[in-house]
Amino acid sequence: MKDHLIKATVYDGMVRAYTIVSTETVEEARRRHDTWATATAALGRTITITAMMGALLKDDQSLTVKIEGGGPLGAMIADANASGEVRGYVLNPHVDFDLNTNGKLDVSRAVGTDGALSIVKDLGLKDYFTGQVPIVSGEVSEDFTYYFAHSEQIPSAVGAGVLVNPDHTVLAAGGFIVQVMPGADEDLITQLEEQIQNFEPISSLIQKGYSPEQILFKLFPDVHVKIHESMPIEFKCKCSKERLELAIKGLGNEEIEKMIDEDHGAEAKCHFCNEVYHFDENELKTLIE
Ligand code: ZN
Repeated sequence: MKDHLIKATVYDGMVRAYTIVSTETVEEARRRHDTWATATAALGRTITITAMMGALLKDDQSLTVKIEGGGPLGAMIADANASGEVRGYVLNPHVDFDLNTNGKLDVSRAVGTDGALSIVKDLGLKDYFTGQVPIVSGEVSEDFTYYFAHSEQIPSAVGAGVLVNPDHTVLAAGGFIVQVMPGADEDLITQLEEQIQNFEPISSLIQKGYSPEQILFKLFPDVHVKIHESMPIEFKCKCSKERLELAIKGLGNEEIEKMIDEDHGAEAKCHFCNEVYHFDENELKTLIE
């Protein structure tokens, strides 16, 4: 099953629900950045939720998420757009700990609990929205839940999970965002909270082969779920040799001449996807102004 995301509403539009299976996307991130298991779970959860937040945007809007919790991972950065393209990286990918007392990957220990979750949305026409909240748990999903409540004032439940194989590849990844629209009554909110609290871990559902549609129907078993859209999700980076040429140009002629004389070429790496671009002496010469 290809990674995809479902946009739906329930309770006559009073509740918005997005579900996603992101196993291949998270595996692509793991493969590119060589993340170890705990780092894979942390980055995977972040990428999964960022992809859903991208899908909440319109047209050519995009967003960037930064999580810096003071833990061994360092900063985690992810960005996504409304077309299902997401990418991300973590400063220190080689982080792995023993499972926590719940038998799960100890994401909170890797992320840390002393720092901030920041989000910048590029809404087009030079219009930006920025929001920042303190890290409350380091488990990522809870931190996004807190972000929605305090920065966007939208009562939300956010879940994301990643299961890792013994060989460190990604077995299952996915998540959901459930948001209550203004005007919904308190009973509905309480009922949803209970429903979601008792919900089976999302990663184990995906491991069993659940699709985003099936996850939705399991989240809301007794009500009519209106599906609005299904969209593919993939790890995709915006980098190109041309963009890195500009970055090298920005270093200045003196620096470029040094690369030519001393190194006879240059390598430039994209942080987001770890792709390496090579520039030979002749290519570097064309960058001198
Ligand atoms: Zn890239």
